[in-house]
Amino acid sequence: MAKKRIVLTFPPSLVSQPITYHLVKDYDLKFNIMRGVVTPDEEGRLVIELSGSKSSLEDGVHYLKGQGINIESLAHDIKWHENKCTHCTACIPACPTEAMSVNRETMEVSFDKEKCIACELCISICPFKALVISF
Ligand code: SF4
Ligand code: SF4
Repeated sequence: MAKKRIVLTFPPSLVSQPITYHLVKDYDLKFNIMRGVVTPDEEGRLVIELSGSKSSLEDGVHYLKGQGINIESLAHDIKWHENKCTHCTACIPACPTEAMSVNRETMEVSFDKEKCIACELCISICPFKALVISF
């Protein structure tokens, strides 16, 4: 089984469409929503992990593009530079997967690379540039 993590950006006209339903029913794909920001008046942004056979993934992505959805791959990595981190915790509430977490006793921040989905939500928040995109 193959997996693909992608960011979908929906135009307002597609926000209420059952896109993910079609991915499951018509393309036999499983999906896990990592993060979603969708409002009736604005563009929607969804970070999802798709899993299924390689051909199903290709067909599903082709279907999404055909619907006018912009797709970006989450192929890059996020790096945490511990030496730059001041443990200010500003990134903690922004991280949807708890890849950035804080030990409440010591107030030390840590980064779990395995949990990071490279959504980039923390990048602009960190005042010390301790979190960066690595291509
Ligand atoms: S990119 Fe940042 S906010 Fe997104 S999952 Fe990774 S550590 Fe968390
Ligand atoms: S926002 Fe930056 S400096 Fe603050 S805890 Fe997160 S990584 Fe460290």
